[in-house]
Amino acid sequence: MNNRPDYRDICEAAMRLKDKSIYTAVLSSPKINEQVGSEVFFKCENQQHIGAFKFRGAYNAIIQLSDLQKKNGVIAFSSGNHAQAVARVCQMLDIKATIIMPNNAPDIKRRGTEILGANIIEYDPLTENRETIAQQVNADNRLSLIPPFNHPHIIAGQGTAAYELASDVKNLDQLLAPCGGGGLLSGTALAVKGLQENCAVIGVEPEMADDATQSFQQGKIITIDYPDTIADGTQTLSLGEITFGLIQSHVDDMVTVSEAMIKEAVRLLFYNLKQVVEPSGALGLAALLERKTPPANRVGVIISGGNIDGKMMQKILAEPSIT
Ligand SMILES: *Cc1c(COP(=O)(O)O)cnc(C)c1O
Repeated sequence: MNNRPDYRDICEAAMRLKDKSIYTAVLSSPKINEQVGSEVFFKCENQQHIGAFKFRGAYNAIIQLSDLQKKNGVIAFSSGNHAQAVARVCQMLDIKATIIMPNNAPDIKRRGTEILGANIIEYDPLTENRETIAQQVNADNRLSLIPPFNHPHIIAGQGTAAYELASDVKNLDQLLAPCGGGGLLSGTALAVKGLQENCAVIGVEPEMADDATQSFQQGKIITIDYPDTIADGTQTLSLGEITFGLIQSHVDDMVTVSEAMIKEAVRLLFYNLKQVVEPSGALGLAALLERKTPPANRVGVIISGGNIDGKMMQKILAEPSIT
C-alpha cells in the first residue's frame, strides 16, 4: 500500500475486522427526525469495543505488523480513545503495549487503558516534552509506533464504520462525521464515495477547534492553539498530510458547531435515542440542530464514541434544553 489509502483498502480492512470489531447498530428516533426535518440514521460506534470507532483503525494497523514487530511490542501517544483502542487490540493479540499519556487525561480514559493491561507512562504536558519521553522509553527503537490518525492502515480501519452504514442504509443524501485529526473523516469519505457516489460527506468540528475547516477552505494545513472545547476527541491541533489530502479530494464540505449545541445533542441522544454519547460523538447531530448543512432527506451520522465521565454527563443533563 502506498501512503494514500483508497476504497479497496477500506474493503480489505472490513474483511480483516469481520468478527473482530462489533458490527454496531444503526438507530433512528422519530422525535429527532421530526425536530431536524430529515430521516437520520445513527451509526452507534459508542457501542464499539472500548466505546469508540478507534478500535477499528488500531486493529487494522496492528494486525498488519510483522511477527517480529508484534513480538517487540507497540507504543502510542494518547490521552484518549486511541490509547484504549491500542491497549485492547494488544490484549486480544497478546502484544506488549506502552502508552504515553499526559497526567491530565480524563479519568475514565486512563483507567480504561490501565485495565486493559497496557504499560502507562505519564508525563506533565506543561513541563515535559512528549517526544523526549518517547525517546527515553523507546531508546532502541524496537517498539512500533501506532499513530492516532495519519497512517493509511488507521484511516482504512476507521472507514469501516461508514462502510457498514452505507452498505446497510441505501440512498443516503448526506453523511456527517466528526473531525479531529481527520482519520475518521477521510476513511469515511473513501468508504461512502465507493458505495454511494452521490452521497455528500460533510465533516463537523467544534467552532473552538476549527483547524480542519480552515484548512479545507484555505487549501493548506492550518494549525491552531490548544482548543478549550468540551469535545475532547477533536482537540487535535492540525490534520496530518495524508488525512488533509484525502479530505481535500473526497469531502464535500466542513462545518462547525457551538459548544451549547454539542451539549444539546448529547442530551437529545440520551433522552430520545437512549444512547450515552461523549461530546465528540454528538457533533453530527449538533450540525443538524444548528442547520449548518444543506437540507437533505436521508442523513447518516457517525456517533463516534461514548466515553464520557459520569460527572460530565450529569452536568450536561442538568442544563436546560435549548431547542
Ligand atoms: C478520535 C475521535 C474523534 C476524531 O477522530 P479523528 O480520526 O482524529 O478525526 C471523534 N470522536 C471520538 C469519540 C474520537 O475518539
